Amino acid sequence: MAIIVQKFGGTSVGNVERIQHVAKQVAKTVSEGHQVVVAVSAMSGETNRLTALAKEMQDRPSRREMDVLLTTGEQVTIALLSMALQAQGCPAISYTGWQVPIQTNDVHNKARIEHIDGKKITDQLGQGKVVVVAGFQGIAMESGDITTLGRGGSDTTAVALSAALNADECQIYTDVDGVYTTDPRVVPEAKRLDTVTYDEMLELASLGAKVLQIRSVEFASKYNVPLRVLSSMKEGGGTLITTEENFGDSDMEKPLISGIAFSRDEAKLMVLGVPDKPGVAFQILGPVSDANIEIDMIIQNQGIDGTTDFTFTVSRNDMDAALEILEGVATKLGAREVMSDDTIVKISMVGVGMKSHSGIASNMFKTLADNEINIQMIGTTEIKISVVIDEPSLELAVQSLHEAFELDK
Ligand code: ASP
Ligand code: MG
Repeated sequence: MAIIVQKFGGTSVGNVERIQHVAKQVAKTVSEGHQVVVAVSAMSGETNRLTALAKEMQDRPSRREMDVLLTTGEQVTIALLSMALQAQGCPAISYTGWQVPIQTNDVHNKARIEHIDGKKITDQLGQGKVVVVAGFQGIAMESGDITTLGRGGSDTTAVALSAALNADECQIYTDVDGVYTTDPRVVPEAKRLDTVTYDEMLELASLGAKVLQIRSVEFASKYNVPLRVLSSMKEGGGTLITTEENFGDSDMEKPLISGIAFSRDEAKLMVLGVPDKPGVAFQILGPVSDANIEIDMIIQNQGIDGTTDFTFTVSRNDMDAALEILEGVATKLGAREVMSDDTIVKISMVGVGMKSHSGIASNMFKTLADNEINIQMIGTTEIKISVVIDEPSLELAVQSLHEAFELDK
């Protein structure tokens, strides 16, 4: 008998029939002899609907009240799912986050889980019940206020419950049947990955493969929770996210590249003709990060004639704010010019196999060159190579890299 945590996202509980279908699936796992804890999202569209209502009251609604409002979405689905289970003869009980309790810090709208007391859940499992827990919500330890974990936070609830209960597997049921080598809308030949490491998933997730909330993968990695992404509509084993050690295959068989991620949410800022002296990078980037703008790739050119060019990327919706800051900084520094460009994209090839193989970068650059795609920036980590290119070349670049690295095989 195993303890299994199953999470169902908004689409999977989007209407009465789907909730009944989820109940059937949960009951099946129970009939196989397992103890099951279920974490659920609000019905699809509900969190957005509530957010829109709040905006009608106040331009910037209080964060505390937003949490009180949004958590009602999940409270509806836990009750309905428990009823559906009971109707199918499967004993079940629902808990909100604060009933468990799932204790968090007091940062409204993006609270972090600090502690979960698993006793109530374990007791109910022991009495043969399925325990249905509201995702996305918790209770702030000190104030006793209701908190939420950030959009997509039900994934994190499921992983945190798995860690607290020492579950054998955390299964995330969603509307895709796993993690793919790239976005199938761009490359129809994209293949589902059977396994992927936590580190690879973090890169794939943060770069746009929006299957899981990133924080849930970090959490799973920290507590070594085996995490499986599967479809609630379609049969199949999904994708298992785990440590490299659990891969089983010999190193030889491990694919060099697991996937190609890309992001359109990129903009480039350039400060040209900056005096090339100590402290310049700090003077340029300091005010940008002080404004809470996240900086991604950074390039400083080799200085010529005592001046240098400084280029970096930010999220597209941060570009105008960053530009305004830079214009002030540039005047102070005596830089020649500030420029911005929001028609760029970032493409990243990700794979743990890269650690032990050379030649991947050159193969990537050759493929792009053969397709006459100009590389504007390059960045690397141990398991990732990223390039910034022009937005119109995105599809061609991803398709040709997918083919060149035989990810469709
Ligand atoms: N209902 C919340 C959202 O839409 C949390 C979740 O679904 O994971 O973001
Ligand atoms: Mg989600």
